[in-house]
Amino acid sequence: MSDAHRPPEDRPADSPDERGLRTAIVATARAMGAAGINRGRAGNVSARLARAGCDGFLVTPTGFRYDVMGAGDIVFVAGDGTASGPYRPSSEWRFHRDIYRERPDVAAIVHTHAPFATTLACLDRGIPPFHYMVARAGGRDVRCAPYATFGTQALSDHAVRALEDRRACLLAHHGMIAVGPSLEAALELAIEVETLAEMYWRALQIGEPALLSDAEMAVVLDKFRSYGQARRAD
Ligand SMILES: [Zn+2]
Repeated sequence: MSDAHRPPEDRPADSPDERGLRTAIVATARAMGAAGINRGRAGNVSARLARAGCDGFLVTPTGFRYDVMGAGDIVFVAGDGTASGPYRPSSEWRFHRDIYRERPDVAAIVHTHAPFATTLACLDRGIPPFHYMVARAGGRDVRCAPYATFGTQALSDHAVRALEDRRACLLAHHGMIAVGPSLEAALELAIEVETLAEMYWRALQIGEPALLSDAEMAVVLDKFRSYGQARRAD
């Protein structure tokens, strides 16, 4: 079917911004597998996009293999939850929508079933301040949101709450979410959270690691903020 005959909402992206974003979402979804933080068809990736003045986001389609996914397979979901594209959006589109709605600082979201993060989440455990790099997720710890069935509004509500003042959270008996100002930042944080989850898991094999104090984590959080500013000024 030529583009001229498709309903407007089903046409492939025509703005350069949207095309670039679609390609970057596919690359990010593939990179999750290459980095070892996601296996098979699990997980999903999205990026915020306003289309024709309508706030929404682009998200990976449901149940798709990332190695055969193309930019044209990515689905646009408007703020009211209306999806447009050749496939249905990820079954987790609700938490993507609600995170974008609640968090103006977020432009991209990565959700994975990363093995170590998910192992902790299956024990209803978050990641406490056992290592200073936990502050990379925006606070003193990475919370674990309570369990709710995948794709439900209840899961989305739990995720939004667990992400308050944070850029990552675990989802009990499910996986993790990392958010950021860009797809690169969200992916980098997802890899960092998985690395921390693995280190914490390893430490737990030997004993219960001592935790850094709230005062020390506040110092680290402050240093991370000024570190970012110093780099931008270079
Ligand atoms: Zn999931």
